[in-house]
Amino acid sequence: SGINFDNYDDIPVEVSGEGTPDPINQFTSPPINELLLENIELSLFNKPTPVQKYSIPIVGSGRDLMACAQTGSGKTGGFLFPVLSSLFENGPSPVANEGNVFARRKAYPSALVLAPTRELAIQNFEEARKYAYRSWVRVCVVYGGSDINSQLRNLERGCDLIVATPGRLNDMLERGRVSLKNIRFLVLDEADRMLDMGFEPQIRHIVDGCDMPCAKDRQTLMFSATFPKEIQVMARDFLDNYIFLSVGKVGS
Ligand code: ADP
Ligand code: MG
Repeated sequence: SGINFDNYDDIPVEVSGEGTPDPINQFTSPPINELLLENIELSLFNKPTPVQKYSIPIVGSGRDLMACAQTGSGKTGGFLFPVLSSLFENGPSPVANEGNVFARRKAYPSALVLAPTRELAIQNFEEARKYAYRSWVRVCVVYGGSDINSQLRNLERGCDLIVATPGRLNDMLERGRVSLKNIRFLVLDEADRMLDMGFEPQIRHIVDGCDMPCAKDRQTLMFSATFPKEIQVMARDFLDNYIFLSVGKVGS
């Protein structure tokens, strides 16, 4: 399963967009924050996969990204490494309280990762928690088909990076228990699968909601194994002056 990481350099890569930064060949600081580098070392990864080589400097330079790469190519690190690196470097967002007494029960994450299934949400959560080790970033996960109250209690303790399935996140938003006004990074993981599963209205509801900063005020990253028409449309709608990255053979 997955790709053979020894044949790294044989994999065709397509990058397009103005001012695309050069790829990195090693996990080196900069552009990666020192604490994050230590956490990556603990995971025993010794060099970035092709998608990570490109995504780390692209996201590190502040750009939006549409990345297509097959399953098993290391897309999780492709978004978690640059997002966590930036959060570590820049520190917490100013505390928002919206001037109401219930605000302290509300979570104000700086980063949101949307994933199609409970399993993928949990995977992303566990990876994020591993790389956020010893940092200020508190990681939370919310997904459907599971007791909402225990997830709410976790959110109440504070949440800086939230991994969520779209339906459950909308539920939390409607209950006023999560605010997206501090979001600096929005990640759509497995965007094609989310659309296949019928989540497009839910995703649009989250992204177009009154809480989410506009495309210019957040960094948005879309990751997908394929690049069909519907994903191209979503990329056009959600991303701002983005870089397109395609690694290996990508279906449409
Ligand atoms: P994708 O999301 O593209 O399907 P994952 O992020 O789940 O891929 O990664 C696939 C596998 O590759 C995982 O087991 C992960 O631990 C491993 N992996 C990711 N990045 C690296 C790396 N830089 N070096 C070695 N293994 C890696
Ligand atoms: Mg993945």
